[in-house]
Amino acid sequence: MGEIADITIIGAGVVGAAVAAGVAQKNRQVYVIEKNESFGMETSSRNSQVIHAGLYYPENSLKAKTCVAGNTLLYELCRRYAIGHRNTGKIIVAADSSECEALEDLLHKGRKNGVEGLRLLSRRELRSLEPDVAGVAALFSSSTGILNVHELIKMFLSQAKDEGAQVVYKSEVTGVERKNDLYQIEVDSAGEKFIFETRVVINSAGLHADKVARMAGIDPGGAGYTLYYCKGEYYSVSWGKSGLINRLVYPVPPAELTGVGVHVTLDLDGRIRLGPSAQYIEEIDYRIDDSNKRRFYEEAKKLLPFLDYDDIEPEMAGIRPKLQKPGEGPKDFVVRHEADRGLPGLINLIGIESPGITASPAIAEIVRDMVTEIL
Ligand SMILES: Cc1cc2nc3c(=O)[nH]c(=O)nc-3n(C[C@H](O)[C@H](O)[C@H](O)COP(=O)(O)OP(=O)(O)OC[C@H]3O[C@@H](n4cnc5c(N)ncnc54)[C@H](O)[C@@H]3O)c2cc1C
Repeated sequence: MGEIADITIIGAGVVGAAVAAGVAQKNRQVYVIEKNESFGMETSSRNSQVIHAGLYYPENSLKAKTCVAGNTLLYELCRRYAIGHRNTGKIIVAADSSECEALEDLLHKGRKNGVEGLRLLSRRELRSLEPDVAGVAALFSSSTGILNVHELIKMFLSQAKDEGAQVVYKSEVTGVERKNDLYQIEVDSAGEKFIFETRVVINSAGLHADKVARMAGIDPGGAGYTLYYCKGEYYSVSWGKSGLINRLVYPVPPAELTGVGVHVTLDLDGRIRLGPSAQYIEEIDYRIDDSNKRRFYEEAKKLLPFLDYDDIEPEMAGIRPKLQKPGEGPKDFVVRHEADRGLPGLINLIGIESPGITASPAIAEIVRDMVTEIL
């Protein structure tokens, strides 16, 4: 890394990888620096792998816009590059008549966000679509689906590498300092420190993005960049019950939108999975025990009466990097060029929780346009 790099991307999760694919060009020196031994080993591999439609997010928010745009882009990418995916569709189910109004609200919200393919289902229509799901009515979203995120990240990085980008693993960025119109990036690579210079820094460090912003001289508290960790646990359902549902099944979301409620997803092999739950934690810790099993079972049983307690087993957990403190309302993604903080060339991507996978190709387009203005 003797020369001055043009662009340094911190983090090789789905967002950093999408950005790398968006900004890499033969005439640019682009580095992706990742602390783990491979790509996508944190939040990007601990999630529901759902291609969201974009109906939950506040109108005109970046979450809504990048999710709706990203949904279309993702299906195109999946088809073009043979990435495993399935356009399953999803139903949000009203357990009883008191929840029907919330379905109508979601329908209007979704339509305002530009989501296509939404329609309300009567009890009879729900029965004929998903005979084994309990509920009195539902909202059907035809553009929701599932995908193989590992294949998506691999494809983004191989596009970036084809344009000359270099992906450097086992290398943790430990310092970001602005000096003489450039940034000095300090890296700890398997115990060895080295420093190089770059014109543009893109902070896509996921759960650690607030710490990277601090390295660059931004006070996360003052800027509203402090991340709060919100853990989501998953339970898998025994293979014997596979095939009983064909679409993703969600409850009506809780009002505070910490998560969207324990829902039922499918993986590409057809296995049913429950989760994620939502619980704020202090430290990153992916362990799960079965202390929440009863609660998972009872919530899921309301949607899937065919479940037996012994059908479900703890599977894995992921952690949301939230800008929303416990008890606060939803916060939007931060995708920001920090020129007005005296840090031209630094682009922060912070609080990229769900629907970050779906939004990733649309976030990459926004960042690509910012970079074009900078370089
Ligand atoms: C439970 C759960 C369910 C979800 N479900 C969905 C879903 O169904 N659909 C959807 O669209 N989205 C979903 N999401 C959101 C989605 O998973 C994230 O938005 C997305 O994976 C974030 O990608 P990222 O690249 O920003 O972060 P990450 O995947 O966390 O990547 C950040 C990378 O930065 C690296 N890094 C951090 N600090 C440094 C450093 N100092 N130096 C070098 N490298 C560093 C990390 O090692 C990591 O690899 C879900 C999230 C959770 C937690």
